[in-house]
Amino acid sequence: MTSVVGPPSEFSRVRRLPDRADYDMATIRRILAATMIGHVGVLREGRPVVIPMLFGHVDDVLYLHGSVASQLLRAMSDGIEACFTATVIDGLVYARSAFHHSMNYRSVVIAGTATPVDGDEKIRALRAIVEHITPGRWDEARPPNDLELRQTAVLRMPIEEASAKIRAAGPADDAEDLALPIWAGQMPVTTHFTDPVDADDLVQGIDPSPAVTRLRRSGAARG
Ligand SMILES: Cc1cc2nc3c(=O)[nH]c(=O)nc-3n(C[C@H](O)[C@H](O)[C@H](O)COP(=O)(O)OP(=O)(O)OC[C@H]3O[C@@H](n4cnc5c(N)ncnc54)[C@H](O)[C@@H]3O)c2cc1C
Repeated sequence: MTSVVGPPSEFSRVRRLPDRADYDMATIRRILAATMIGHVGVLREGRPVVIPMLFGHVDDVLYLHGSVASQLLRAMSDGIEACFTATVIDGLVYARSAFHHSMNYRSVVIAGTATPVDGDEKIRALRAIVEHITPGRWDEARPPNDLELRQTAVLRMPIEEASAKIRAAGPADDAEDLALPIWAGQMPVTTHFTDPVDADDLVQGIDPSPAVTRLRRSGAARG
């Protein structure tokens, strides 16, 4: 397992406010762990398309899954270039000027190609995707059967060309605006889970699972 992605390639080098950039694999993994969904962008028949997707990650590999009929996964399986991004919003930043309004965030961009996986790695990847959202849930759920596995495509995308960008600060107003009688500051943002709701067709008397209960009790969740 490597610990550093960098140095950044020409593609992955952050140009604007490069002091907010981070190419460290540990940082990238932490941000991925804090994010529930990502967006995958590809050029399909010459047109860009960006699709929201769940994901999982194990060490330096990102896993995506979906129907074997998914146009996106089929195109990616052919080896086309793809770009994945995930973002956590940590706060709204209010400046005196409209221009300097901003957000605090942690985001990751990963570029590369993906390859289909099968066998044990496919199971490990599906487990990682389920566990990414709710740790402990894989062992509670019925495992996928052969038909379900055949209906599901899983792709591995190595985290090799990647960057993180992080903003974690108050407003950055221009000096001449600091004396204006306008409120400035920040409002932190967190995502919380609320009480689980039973499925309408749940067998009577089954309580929410330990994994779900742990997640509910964990307080602030992911972005
Ligand atoms: C939070 C979240 C997580 C998801 N996780 C997964 C996942 O892990 N795996 C997976 O396969 N799918 C996932 N989906 C669904 C995914 O976004 C696509 O809708 C799905 O892959 C079906 O693609 P398709 O082949 O029908 O469409 P495509 O052929 O890929 O897209 C055709 C067109 O449909 C429209 N479209 C497709 N998806 C969306 C969308 N989500 N919202 C609005 N318009 C859309 C677009 O205009 C697109 O150009 C997720 C969606 C969300 C919102």
